Amino acid sequence: MDDKMKKLKRIGVLTSGGDAPGMNAAIRSVVRYGVYHNLEVIGILRGYAGLINGNLRPLDHRSVSGIINRGGTILETARCDEFLTEEGQRKAVETLKRNRIDALVVIGGDGTYRGAIQLWDKWHIPCVGVPATIDNDLNGTDITIGADTAINTALEATDKIRDTATSMERVFVIEVMGRDSGFIAIHVALASGAEEVLVPELSHNLEDMCRDIVEGSRRGKNSWIIIVAEGAARADKVAEKITEMTGLETRVAVLGHIQRGGNPTAQDRILAARLGAAAVDLILNGEFGKAVGIKDGEINVVDLHDAVKGKGAVVEPFYQLTRILT
Ligand code: ATP
Repeated sequence: MDDKMKKLKRIGVLTSGGDAPGMNAAIRSVVRYGVYHNLEVIGILRGYAGLINGNLRPLDHRSVSGIINRGGTILETARCDEFLTEEGQRKAVETLKRNRIDALVVIGGDGTYRGAIQLWDKWHIPCVGVPATIDNDLNGTDITIGADTAINTALEATDKIRDTATSMERVFVIEVMGRDSGFIAIHVALASGAEEVLVPELSHNLEDMCRDIVEGSRRGKNSWIIIVAEGAARADKVAEKITEMTGLETRVAVLGHIQRGGNPTAQDRILAARLGAAAVDLILNGEFGKAVGIKDGEINVVDLHDAVKGKGAVVEPFYQLTRILT
């Protein structure tokens, strides 16, 4: 260990951007793994906004008791435009210096990582990233914290809607989150046995889809679930088109923010536990400007710049399989 590393005593942790189930489990891991390694851990409230305003809270082993199973984030999160400015960043850096915080763990999505890139590249604040976003759109990790829970939440709702669709002979168009990514949609479609799925990455022909529905109806099929990622099409427009072309009663269900909340799945809790500890390891090893992730079951480290390059969801094979199995 060189001199610089020996001086490292106090680390900060924040959650930023959209909340994701499992963020609390990640905070818990950072705190307890940090304390285990004789670090003091300071929680920063409301992401970069709290850094600018100096809203800090020391976190010890006990302060993160009973949160591993809770959705949301005890540190709260925010979207903070002031942090995009030079002045905002200067205030954030002053907070860190004033409170003698030697390094920062940021837990969030690509915007959060971009903030950390600014802090490290421009202001030389040692930062490491933990990927937590329901969108699973960060490079360097097979999956982000929160994505598995979001899929399971949307799946549970879809299963319930299927019961009604079957009983009443209806078509349901279910909108799930994903402005730029069909990740949630394609997984929910495959797992729920949906008849069709619309994702931003692939083009779709609504008329062909309606012809398939009419054909199915003739053969005695009595329910249809169409999953739509919010970025692929407007669910209400899709429903209108189906009613117009098939004459079948069509309903829309927009799942919305229920997909962000709820108790994290076992997978998300375990992922968060591993990645929180791995982030602290990076700090202990003096590796900054990097993010942790999981690749093929192993901890993976990636430069923050590469992490935000954006991975496309692998939708095509899942789409084909959904079509074959329906
Ligand atoms: P999610 O993927 O769940 O939406 P996110 O981390 O991508 O999460 P954003 O709202 O994009 O969420 O970003 C969170 C915050 O990070 C922003 O409100 C802003 O304070 C900061 N941030 C985003 N982009 C930049 C940037 N280019 N430079 C500095 N800070 C940034």
